[in-house]
Amino acid sequence: MRLAALYGPDGVSSSLHLEVDDGYVCVDALAAALDQPHLRGMADAGELFWRGEQVVSELRDIDVSAAPGVASANARLAPPVRRPGKIVCVGLNYLAHIDQSKLSHPDHIVLFSKFSSCLVASGEPVVAPSITSKLDYEGELAVVIGRTTRSVMAADAIDHIGGYTIINDISARDLQLAEPQWMRGKGLDTFAPLGPVVVDAAAAPPIDAMHIRTCVNGEIRQDAPCSLMITGVPELIEYISAWMTLEPGDIIATGTPSGVAAEMESPVFMSDGDVVEVDITGIGTLRNPVVAAP
Ligand code: MG
Repeated sequence: MRLAALYGPDGVSSSLHLEVDDGYVCVDALAAALDQPHLRGMADAGELFWRGEQVVSELRDIDVSAAPGVASANARLAPPVRRPGKIVCVGLNYLAHIDQSKLSHPDHIVLFSKFSSCLVASGEPVVAPSITSKLDYEGELAVVIGRTTRSVMAADAIDHIGGYTIINDISARDLQLAEPQWMRGKGLDTFAPLGPVVVDAAAAPPIDAMHIRTCVNGEIRQDAPCSLMITGVPELIEYISAWMTLEPGDIIATGTPSGVAAEMESPVFMSDGDVVEVDITGIGTLRNPVVAAP
């Protein structure tokens, strides 16, 4: 099951859709056609996970032919989770990224936050603000929490994952590295492209079989398997949930592999007119144009 949020005619509200071969099927329309009113009214994958595992399971089995589809050409994607309670980001989680960034190896897992105001969907622009001249990309696997998770051991953590998507942890390197906290350099509007869809955990390949590839204007910049994470996803969930309750729809950005612009001998940062794409096996491609702030 592949979960998409599509904007309605107002361009602001969204409704949950299932991605199918040639487009999307609206869950509200399926609920009406199949007389399942309890499946109505979900804006995105986060709201689905809040409804609980029974509803997730019902949706997996639903007959998608019961309602007409929306052709891809007529669909405008919203972030597949619109208002996550938390976006917990892991820094420095791939060895080659640390070494090539010439950063010291951390003694502890490095965490920082992004916010729902950072989110944009696949296809929506990343806005390059005038306060940075070092706009960088970080392709990452994003884990979407499926149920309330507190003090969960790594061995049980996979059961708490609702699904997987892609996040591009856009970073203003000049702001990030000038300040002890990364919040400003990482937290600007549009600095968290998310999507294109959330792949239900039951339908996703194993994390060790996932591969991240990031391209800027078609040039491959990052190309690495997720199996190279220093701290794996189950251990991250154990570590975070030991001190903070993770809730349905919360997102964990699991860190970026080597190949960001800041690692290059002569860095080529992103600017107006660029297109950045992050592809992860089994999830799809998150594609965003970069535009200069007006
Ligand atoms: Mg990152």
